[in-house]
Amino acid sequence: ELPVIYLITPTHSRAEQKADITRMSHTLKLVPNIHWIVIEDSEQKSDMVSRLLEQTGLNYTHLNVLTPQKFKMASKDPNWLKPRGVLQRNAGLEWLRNHKNSPAKKGVLYFADDDNTYSLQIFEEMRFTQKASVWPVGLVGYLRYERPIVEKGQVVGWFTAWKPDRPFAIDMAGFAVNLQLVLKYPKAGFSNEVRRGYQESTFLSGLQLTLSDLEPKANMCSEVLVWHTRTEKSSMENEAKLMKKFGKASN
Ligand code: UDP
Ligand code: MN
Repeated sequence: ELPVIYLITPTHSRAEQKADITRMSHTLKLVPNIHWIVIEDSEQKSDMVSRLLEQTGLNYTHLNVLTPQKFKMASKDPNWLKPRGVLQRNAGLEWLRNHKNSPAKKGVLYFADDDNTYSLQIFEEMRFTQKASVWPVGLVGYLRYERPIVEKGQVVGWFTAWKPDRPFAIDMAGFAVNLQLVLKYPKAGFSNEVRRGYQESTFLSGLQLTLSDLEPKANMCSEVLVWHTRTEKSSMENEAKLMKKFGKASN
């Protein structure tokens, strides 16, 4: 039987949210045997996300947890200042580890942000992960791509410019882990307290992984199958104009 791919996706409210998660959901509709865990960064589940998930026909779990104000980015903050999606990913992990939810025995876990671009092939690369799989991520780290460096079939380091000395100098989109490992080490997770850039390393170290455990995918990490795309913030400056003319904004 095909292992189930569990996807943990934090999502937050913004003008571009529906566009981003529509695109992502339409990608996921093309992938067999997945379970999409979507966690809204909000006090309550929104009707928009609820309806969208229902309409996809995908297997999904819809959760929510609000990031406290002190961990939130102000709109003027540079995007790297605060971690994003930390509590949401932890809520997804907690759901997976809760026996009541009895996830499939054979499974793999992937942290899939709502604005990235996913090739269908990346899901098949990760599906039979023994412990942890890794691969390149495009358009990240002020590079065309970052990637694990592979020698004789083994990951030996990181082709990464920013903080290359991190234990796992890899973006969230660049790895997947076996579900049984996640269940075996129930403390592995994310934290708003760790140093910038260390979320991935914190989680993977929590699973007691070392470089030699990593399975290089995507043709020995030579192909980019996922991109850390970021959706441009759309200006809404004409909304006010039409508000005056029509007495209502466009939504
Ligand atoms: N996110 C969130 N709360 C926030 C900001 C972001 O839940 O306040 C989610 C977002 O929807 C995405 C993930 O966390 O799925 C990573 O955020 P983003 O894509 O903005 O980060 P970047 O691509 O800049 O690393
Ligand atoms: Mn992003």
